Amino acid sequence: MGQRLFSEYSVAPVPRNLIPSLDPSKPQVLWLGCCDSGYDETTTLDLFPDEMIVVRNIGNLALGTDLTWASAVQHAVDNLQVDHIIVCGHYGCGIIKTDPVVGIHFPWQKEVDSLLSTHQKELENLSVDDRNRYLVQVNVVKQMQLVRDLLEVIYPGEHRRIDIHGFLYDRVRDRADRILLNR
Ligand SMILES: [Zn+2]
Repeated sequence: MGQRLFSEYSVAPVPRNLIPSLDPSKPQVLWLGCCDSGYDETTTLDLFPDEMIVVRNIGNLALGTDLTWASAVQHAVDNLQVDHIIVCGHYGCGIIKTDPVVGIHFPWQKEVDSLLSTHQKELENLSVDDRNRYLVQVNVVKQMQLVRDLLEVIYPGEHRRIDIHGFLYDRVRDRADRILLNR
């Protein structure tokens, strides 16, 4: 599956200067990645390591019940004044895939199951590889929507706006694409 267009979103390459570097020592991005990616996908942007606060969990899920994630959002947005939140999924994910994953716990399994049932119809028409790639994409879309609904994002304070980005990392091609929401 290449550059595929859906009614809800499209996929396009991430420009390396999407978020320009401002100060090598000041965080400006909160990055939510997957803990089984094993990649240096945070280097897909021309930013210094200290410009990013990185959180990883199973399947890059923005769950309010994940206290590590919830407190990272509060700290990054309220205290460190970051203006960008990136959700980064990755192709080849060991969690976000159509085969049942054995042994991961509630609520993580519940989220994967919910994703599968929501998109069952679209998945039926795809090959196995494309199914898994599609699932990684729609998972990032869903997590972007959850981030958009966070109180810290809705009310970041006067004269501030938090930009939400969805990335898809492809290790085989060593490149990152981004999700562009059509609404
Ligand atoms: Zn993963």
